[in-house]
Amino acid sequence: MRALKDFSKLCIHTQTTKPWSLEECIKHYSKSGVSGISIWRHLLEGKDLKKIKALLNTNQMEVVSLVRGGFFPSVEANDRELALQDNQLAIDQASALGAPLLVLVCGADPRQALEVSRRQIQDGINQLIPYAKNMGVKLAIEPLHPMYAGDKSAIISLGQANDMCESIASPWVGVAIDVYHLWWDNQLKNEILRCGINKNIFAVHVCDWRVPTIDLLTDRGLMGEGCIPVRQIRAWLEEAGFEGYYEVEVFSERLWAQDQKLYLEDIKKSYFNHT
Ligand code: ZN
Repeated sequence: MRALKDFSKLCIHTQTTKPWSLEECIKHYSKSGVSGISIWRHLLEGKDLKKIKALLNTNQMEVVSLVRGGFFPSVEANDRELALQDNQLAIDQASALGAPLLVLVCGADPRQALEVSRRQIQDGINQLIPYAKNMGVKLAIEPLHPMYAGDKSAIISLGQANDMCESIASPWVGVAIDVYHLWWDNQLKNEILRCGINKNIFAVHVCDWRVPTIDLLTDRGLMGEGCIPVRQIRAWLEEAGFEGYYEVEVFSERLWAQDQKLYLEDIKKSYFNHT
């Protein structure tokens, strides 16, 4: 396994330091030696993307991904069409910011079977591929933990994401592997290797699962604060050929309440010591 000698493969999701504006994230990450940033779309509302791109360039930041598109399934055909339009907008935004990847939280509609939602997800992605290819933006299916199967993602394991990618069979569609969603799976190593063989590992998100967890959305931990074997998973990813960024994606009321500059230093320590 590669040693993590520096922060050249460290990326932070803007939502990790939620109290900061996008401009603050860019400036503070850059100043502390972190060059990778994954940008959450709500921060782009009302912004001039040319100005944001210029700020990213001035601070020598690399945009690893735009988060997030997806939410394809619905019992309403009109809503499925609106979702496609929103995904096209997300692809435009990614292109404007120089982001090579759009992360997809694929969605689910509790009014229909997961099978139907999965079919609509695959249809939606297939319809987006020509647009994504034309704009030079790849699409990453992010399987979520099964606790989100009701309304956030009908794709709840790396095996399902691999099945869908292999069925779609496009170099523009791969997977975002988030340890928070997938660590529990006894097939994880095999599915990571399978994903690697197919060149489908497009992104990796890291954090930790705290025990006990007091909130299933906003009580994530930094790597080393919980029970996810992040180092072991990194070894499997590298065995599978992954050489990209490790993206720290932590939603935590506890950590958002801290001084974000001190927290940024803790993120770096956690990356070095536990990733
Ligand atoms: Zn994630």
